[in-house]
Amino acid sequence: MLRLYNTLTKQVDEVKTVEPGKARMYTCGPTVYRYAHIGNLRTYLMADWIRRALSAQGVEVLHIKNITDVGHMRQELVESGGDKMILSALAEGKSVQEIAQFYAHSFHRDEARMNILPAHVFPWATQHVPEMVGLVQRLLDNGMAYLAGDNVYFSVAQFEDYGKLSRNVGGDLLEGVRVEADPLKHDPRDFTLWKAAEPGRDLKWDSPWGPGFPGWHIECSAMAHKYLGEEFDIHTGGVDNVFPHHEDEIAQSEGAFGRQHVRYWVHGQHLLADGAKMSKSAGNVFLLDDLVARGFDPLAFRYLCLTVRYRHRMNFTFTALKASERALTSLRQRIWEWKNLEPLASFPPQVQEYRQRFWDSVNSDLDLPNALAVTWDAARSDLPDQAKLALLQEFDQVLGLDLDQVPASYRVSATVADTLRQRRDMRQERQFATADSLRSEAQASGYKVEDTRAGTRVRPKTSLEQQEDRWHSVSSPREVPSFLDRPAEYDFTFLINAHDYLEDLQRCVDSILRYSRSYRSEIVVVDNGSADDTGQWLEEMQARTPHFRVIHCDHVLGDAAGKNIGLKQCLGKTVVLMDTSTEVVGDILSAVGGKLKDPTIGVFGPYGLLTQDLQHFHEEVAQGEADAVQGYCMAFRRADINQVGLMRECFRFYRNLDIDYCFQFKDRGLRVVADGRLPLVRHEHRQWAELDQAQRDELSRKNFGRFLRRWGRRNDLLINGHGQHDHGHDHDHGHDHDHHHH
Ligand code: AMP
Ligand code: ZN
Repeated sequence: MLRLYNTLTKQVDEVKTVEPGKARMYTCGPTVYRYAHIGNLRTYLMADWIRRALSAQGVEVLHIKNITDVGHMRQELVESGGDKMILSALAEGKSVQEIAQFYAHSFHRDEARMNILPAHVFPWATQHVPEMVGLVQRLLDNGMAYLAGDNVYFSVAQFEDYGKLSRNVGGDLLEGVRVEADPLKHDPRDFTLWKAAEPGRDLKWDSPWGPGFPGWHIECSAMAHKYLGEEFDIHTGGVDNVFPHHEDEIAQSEGAFGRQHVRYWVHGQHLLADGAKMSKSAGNVFLLDDLVARGFDPLAFRYLCLTVRYRHRMNFTFTALKASERALTSLRQRIWEWKNLEPLASFPPQVQEYRQRFWDSVNSDLDLPNALAVTWDAARSDLPDQAKLALLQEFDQVLGLDLDQVPASYRVSATVADTLRQRRDMRQERQFATADSLRSEAQASGYKVEDTRAGTRVRPKTSLEQQEDRWHSVSSPREVPSFLDRPAEYDFTFLINAHDYLEDLQRCVDSILRYSRSYRSEIVVVDNGSADDTGQWLEEMQARTPHFRVIHCDHVLGDAAGKNIGLKQCLGKTVVLMDTSTEVVGDILSAVGGKLKDPTIGVFGPYGLLTQDLQHFHEEVAQGEADAVQGYCMAFRRADINQVGLMRECFRFYRNLDIDYCFQFKDRGLRVVADGRLPLVRHEHRQWAELDQAQRDELSRKNFGRFLRRWGRRNDLLINGHGQHDHGHDHDHGHDHDHHHH
């Protein structure tokens, strides 16, 4: 039977349900004032696999997944300075309910596309306020809670077992949000069960303690109790739910009912994207729609999640997603072929061995990577194809890849079937040229034709394959070959990292072309996952412009990663890195080329920065030595890159990356020099202009922290750097120069 790692017991436990043959399971569901991202979906997938593993082995599962449409919404909005999406919806006159409906709808749609079985009940928090009030009353009645002001708090001191799940007995962070110590609390660990509505709040409910709203944790205790009873079997969520959410849920439920709340607590590890925590500002939050828009089958993401155990962090990359989609397509292809065979009366006994291995893996704390490996072993074994089909159909009850649904989508049109028949005849007559052109014809009309030992297979191209037909694109700098050891073919390379804002890119490229005609130069543009027409325009430019190259990325890579792709691909003796907000208005190359003839100079650009203490960089170099030049335009010798290194890819956002890179040159003993007389004009930097103040601060602070961690003690690299570095600083801020954007 199924064994799972139980956060409560800190060991892998065999699942023994309260009621034999039946499992009651609760999953902390989505917060519906924003989209669920693929990290959230990974956590719901884990719950889905647990549920499928149980039901495939004969256990009847009752699954509840709550919809959080109330609670800390307001707080979080205030805290974050307001979610743009929700604020604009409110401004348009949409109600909070409408917003919740919208996101809940999108969540259900995502779950359906991921083949996640719908929970039997999706209780909404706002529809269960009376149950929450009842539970709070019960806790007041039995002395586990107290009223202070018009708020009700849970008294942690009254609950001996507090901390048994998370081993965290520390102070309460109110709903996970940092606030000043609440003077009404008897003990800083106490947490809010009910909060009185502040004046002017419209989202509030009546209660015996006056109008207010429930704490977040009480929602799950109340709804779990209503649908699953006082004690149930499995509760799932992401690791971030362990404390305080689930710890507090246990305290409330066990405090109220006096018995064990949940037998098995199962928590999924987080999903990272491109090696970093997903965050809006880093540009690496992906929704299922983002994958679909890039041509992926949603189930390719499901497949990808099968390849990493739920207790391990998983790093999402598009390279891995592509590999998953290919593997999935190849499984489907087999299923499709096997489905066309006559059924067999009986299977050889080895079938049982595969079955055994598969279920052992599933039951062993959901070892799905191994279960998937067994699936492939079976698919590639010498079992009769009909037996393979039966096995894979059985396994798919757990995997959920919808393998059985494949054949319908693999049908080909009569015209294509006809083309292929002709092609076969041509091949038999050894008319290979004609056969090949017939094949191309079928492929051009959207089919994939593959010759195998078993014969010719044809199927409609997947949408990913159609996308890939448009142009080649890369998922990571590692996929791009380096030209850095090749001899230079040009005197200059203009390197541009482009992401959306096509008009800015066009202005920049036009200006470069206008003023570089008399030089041997090339333009290299990295299309860093643009979602507008940038990719298409660049393709057209490349087709009609000599010495113009584009490298497409299939999603937004970080700023440094994008620039590194370009650096690896440059073929000019001198690289001129240009930002699309910059416009060339005269000949800059003669000055650039002249300066960089001096071997002591490493970096040259028009916008120089100086610092006294590494804490603040000021834009004050009109001409001469600088501590850094800004990335709007920075030039250096290609030959130096091999010594200096590429840019540090932890800089996903552009800010402060320029200073960091300049320091790499300085560290090699090379000078940084500025000359503000270069004929350039700077326009609004649109990526920056789009951010609100909070985002700017956060991004700048993070990147500046990265810079300081590496270079903070290197005052020796500064021009005027004999000052003592002040280590006590906590308001680091780095460069003020971006304030000049307006
Ligand atoms: P939320 O909508 O924030 O309440 O999150 C819904 C579920 O997704 C919770 O169980 C979270 O623990 C989980 N979750 C949040 N972020 C991630 C992530 N990056 N990877 C995996 N699961 C996550
Ligand atoms: Zn919950």
